[in-house]
Amino acid sequence: MCTPGFWQQSHYLVTWCGLQIRCTLPLSLHSIMTSPLERLNSVRNHIQPQNQQLSQQPCLAPILGHNPTGPADIAAERAGASFNVEKMKYFWAGGKEEYEITEIAYQIIQRDPDLTTSHFFDQTRPEAREFTYSESFAMRIYVHDLLFRNALNLFGSPEQLAEWQEDIEKFRVLGCFAMTELGHSSFLRGLETTATYDRENDEFIIHSPTLEATKWWIGLAGQTATHTVAICQTIIDSKPHGINWFIVPLRSPTTGRLLPGVTAGDIGAKYGRAGLDNGWIQFTHARIPRTNLLSRWVNVDRDGNYHPAPNPAVMYATLIPERLSIMAGTWMLVGQAVVIAARYGVVRRQGAKDQKIMDYQSHYVKLMPCVAFMYICNITNRYACDRLFPRVSLRFCKYSTHPLPSMLIVLQLTDFPQLHSLLTTQWSEMSELAQNDIHSYLRKAGDMHAVSAGIKATITWLGADTLERCRRACGGHAYSSYNAIPGIIGDWGVTTTGAYKAGRRRQHRPFAADWGKSRSCSRHLQSQRYLIGTLHDVAQGRQAAGSAAYLNDAATVLAQPTCVFDNERDWLNIEAVNGVLTWLVVKRLHINLTLSLPTQLQATATALAASDAWNDHLLSVTRTSELHCHRHLLDLYVAGIREAPVELHAPLLNMGRLYALYVVEGSLDALLEEEYITPKQARVVRGLYIRLCKETRTDAVPLTDAWAFPDFVLKAPIGRADGDIYS
Ligand SMILES: Cc1cc2nc3c(=O)[nH]c(=O)nc-3n(C[C@H](O)[C@H](O)[C@H](O)COP(=O)(O)OP(=O)(O)OC[C@H]3O[C@@H](n4cnc5c(N)ncnc54)[C@H](O)[C@@H]3O)c2cc1C
Repeated sequence: MCTPGFWQQSHYLVTWCGLQIRCTLPLSLHSIMTSPLERLNSVRNHIQPQNQQLSQQPCLAPILGHNPTGPADIAAERAGASFNVEKMKYFWAGGKEEYEITEIAYQIIQRDPDLTTSHFFDQTRPEAREFTYSESFAMRIYVHDLLFRNALNLFGSPEQLAEWQEDIEKFRVLGCFAMTELGHSSFLRGLETTATYDRENDEFIIHSPTLEATKWWIGLAGQTATHTVAICQTIIDSKPHGINWFIVPLRSPTTGRLLPGVTAGDIGAKYGRAGLDNGWIQFTHARIPRTNLLSRWVNVDRDGNYHPAPNPAVMYATLIPERLSIMAGTWMLVGQAVVIAARYGVVRRQGAKDQKIMDYQSHYVKLMPCVAFMYICNITNRYACDRLFPRVSLRFCKYSTHPLPSMLIVLQLTDFPQLHSLLTTQWSEMSELAQNDIHSYLRKAGDMHAVSAGIKATITWLGADTLERCRRACGGHAYSSYNAIPGIIGDWGVTTTGAYKAGRRRQHRPFAADWGKSRSCSRHLQSQRYLIGTLHDVAQGRQAAGSAAYLNDAATVLAQPTCVFDNERDWLNIEAVNGVLTWLVVKRLHINLTLSLPTQLQATATALAASDAWNDHLLSVTRTSELHCHRHLLDLYVAGIREAPVELHAPLLNMGRLYALYVVEGSLDALLEEEYITPKQARVVRGLYIRLCKETRTDAVPLTDAWAFPDFVLKAPIGRADGDIYS
């Protein structure tokens, strides 16, 4: 049985959804820590015989001299800004009002004595679980809202929404999302947990038949969740009906005790996210009402008749919003490390000339693309997701009448119900299509799947690279946990797992039957399959839409076998550079479509052999999908910055150019290999890329100041806003 510590002791559950901020611990916890003398005595006992005393060293006189150059250095960087930072702050936040809301939230958090701590980085796991106001703690809300609630929204019937919505919204139940199993994760159809219909009692029996079927890694399952949505193999009269989603109660909402048939625990220490109670769950013939099968698309009636979804593809959409949310998460979390590294870079001096390390070419070429990447994430997220999700609005909720033993206060600055209602509206539109026009439905859903899968895979890995660059850019100081970057790396790491989720085969493609036999596939594979299918559609005279609309011009693109750019100006035109990426993607897709892959697929008689055929192309597939995502992000970025005030266009354009050149520079090998560009053009790209890094470097501090992270959020002395990093 799990001890319900969280239930009895937590005083505050505070999240600013999306903007997840780390800090906090009540002062009372200091008493738990051992004193310095106790720790010294403990060490002493280990290293010398009991009866010997360490010789007393005379106390060192305190060093009082402090002659910081940092404040003047950072002030000079700010004075040299090429644009109005206040205006950039507003644009970055999504508007003046949103910026001011952010400031209010920071003030509320910073002034609450229960939400500040002087030893954030020394917390034990139990402390992190119970008291922190941190990214990892806030993940509890994320899991509840974006995974649990979203699964209900996407797969629940209107009656089920009516039954659960309020309890979920008011946190009367806390939900988790149980998909991954100890032995399985990516290949959903291989999951083992069963939901067997018991006609006599009108119930499903949820069961983990093997050790490998143990639900594993499940956020909130370790201590907190009262309920889960669990994906299970549905069995009726011994006949399997595939995987479906079920609401399964885990713990009593009043006592926190596990319910009959449920065994669960915490999986213990992790690389990051200590504040999130990832856990394991085993079901032993746990019983739930039949009506807990989420039945928007599928249904089992009282007599045990199974009514399948109009198209099985609808069952695979639950992770789309979670995947898209990563764009916001990137600049919010990775962005903190970029700010720290940028400030440290202009304050830290090294070398014979005692110059700012940021002025070394190797340094600004390392960091400036990271700054540009954050701009891409922020602006494409706002541009793309504002259209998917509505704008944020301020909402304070106090649930002081919460049924849990402890008072629960929720401060939300994003309006989730609104967000989900829009998503649900979109989903309803798609559901209508699913009933009436499967072809259009699959095209829409396919695009959302492909975009979200590709973007998550591309951005999260690039985010991890960015963090590592930042860590190295701060030398030994970033190896200290007290400078925050190691913790961010740990927290971010989870986003780079889960790159593999089996999708559903596309139903309407001529080759779909063969491709679908692939038994598991990466997110990039999903994206690539979609692109190849779309290119094939275009060849058949159908119109491509959404992120792949550029494939309508594939024939024209390929008709131009070499790049015609003959000066630097061409390479500074983002749309033109995106044309180069388009050429490379189309060329590679075309090779995959017309040459080796189909030949190999057509020669295979079995699903396993088809899977091998895909496997032989996996590296090429991954690279092509990444390129497609980069060009899509650039498309969105260019559209997004059109909404910016005119005086911000220059720095924003430079960020887009830098990102575009970063991608092209990383693809020079492929472009040369295909003989699309000449060595001379490659030299121009490389030279321009380095020059742009140098030119934008002068705005490194203003560009990152615009993200408006206060020091108490960054928690890194080397990233102090005032530049006094050694104090
Ligand atoms: C902190 C944390 C929180 C999590 N929270 C949840 C949660 O709340 N709910 C939940 O259901 N799950 C959760 N997960 C699980 C997460 O979704 C899985 O870790 C993820 O799906 C990866 O699966 P895996 O760990 O089994 O990796 P594996 O499947 O073992 O993959 C390991 C590596 O093998 C390679 N590989 C695997 N499959 C393929 C393939 N088809 N093609 C090519 N290469 C392949 C890749 O290199 C991959 O990185 C969480 C995980 C973590 C770390």
